[in-house]
Amino acid sequence: MEKQGKILMQKYELGRLLGQGTFAKVYHARNLKTGQPVAMKVIDKEKIIKVGMNDQIKREISVMGMVKHPNIVQLYEVLASKTKIYFAMEYVKGGELLAKVLKGKLKEDLARKYFQQLIGAVDFCHSRGVYHRDLKLENLLLDENGDIKVSDFGLSALWESRKTDGLLHTMCGTPAYVAPEVINKKGYDGAKADIWSCGVILFVLLAGFLPFQDKNLISMYMKISRAEFTCPLWFSPEARKLLSRILDPNPRTRLSISSIKKTPWLRKEYNQIEAPRLLLSPFSGCQVESAFDSSTLDDGLVPKNEAERSMKPPSFNAFDIISLSSGFDLSPLFEKNNISTHKDRFTTTREASTIVSKLEEIAQVDSKFKVLKKNGTVTLQGSKVGRKGQLGIDAEIFEVTSSFHIVEVKKTAGDTLEYIQFRDQNLKPSLKDIGWEWRGSEHDG
Ligand code: AMP
Repeated sequence: MEKQGKILMQKYELGRLLGQGTFAKVYHARNLKTGQPVAMKVIDKEKIIKVGMNDQIKREISVMGMVKHPNIVQLYEVLASKTKIYFAMEYVKGGELLAKVLKGKLKEDLARKYFQQLIGAVDFCHSRGVYHRDLKLENLLLDENGDIKVSDFGLSALWESRKTDGLLHTMCGTPAYVAPEVINKKGYDGAKADIWSCGVILFVLLAGFLPFQDKNLISMYMKISRAEFTCPLWFSPEARKLLSRILDPNPRTRLSISSIKKTPWLRKEYNQIEAPRLLLSPFSGCQVESAFDSSTLDDGLVPKNEAERSMKPPSFNAFDIISLSSGFDLSPLFEKNNISTHKDRFTTTREASTIVSKLEEIAQVDSKFKVLKKNGTVTLQGSKVGRKGQLGIDAEIFEVTSSFHIVEVKKTAGDTLEYIQFRDQNLKPSLKDIGWEWRGSEHDG
């Protein structure tokens, strides 16, 4: 545990706890040489490696080094001991914007100012291929001038780091701010999903409450997927119009950032925030790697094989939990033409490529199936005609963390009994050797 007054690597003096996230604690700290205050994000290496989040954190480091913008929390330095990773970040004095909104809705002009700054920061990130994917009020801090600083790139992903096999859909975000296409698990455009979250933020700033709320999570997702929200009476007609075009359930017709910037509501007293010229300075791969190098300092070495040990993801958000719970899958509620009659869910700690190879191997036994791979789904097409035609099976792979996947297997065609027979006699036993865990089935119809 970090103690107040503790000197960190002869460089920083740790102060009071500022806040706590899922994996990290954030402390106030002071650079001993320059006296500069910083926010020190302390991440437990072991926790991260155990749950397979190290790639995500490596991504966070390079992303934060890449985005230098007046409205984005800057990362100054990354330090590492054997057990911890330390991010020395710009200290943002004014607290969370959420605290301000909890005291009451904002005047339209102030909400506009924050929204302009948010859009400027998000636009900047997108132009560099960086998508935040967890934009929410809690991630907006205020500096001493009352300007916004976007923080927490914990869930962001670089465009270039997208897997080229096209087989992964990452489930991210916080339920109330998450875009319909993210819920529907169709794979999504990070830019459009961020824009949706910006729309939710704008609504909250103007209203003082969330646009999509319900005690029942399923009902909340239904509202999100249909963009069912009501603007309070005090919203101006321009603000209503803008919100209806941002909170558009169809990502293709949803306003783009450049269109948002052109709207009359946003242009009013529009302050273009100029980012500094030399902007691209990602942390070098070597700096990122060294944060995970266990040959550095301290106690608590994490053996490599421990990292590969079977593990459960740490603390999922509500969306992840729902996705994991057997018999509680939301996707049928959102899919109009759901013809699936059987759905089985497995989890595994193996990589997507291993999952795909295993499925291919199973399909090839007795030349039972032809294999097709497309959009995150491995399709097995029966080569023999059964009682109700050829058996068709889809296995859709979802990434929760880099080494934790959920695979949904469903029958798309053919006879249900033949499917169950294949599942129990071939699929389940064969998948056992790659450490699969059965998560249950659903039968609708
Ligand atoms: P995070 O793990 O990034 O969600 O941070 C947890 C909490 O620590 C936030 O909600 C803030 O209250 C606080 N915090 C994070 N970053 C900073 C910062 N750069 N300056 C001041 N407070 C921060």
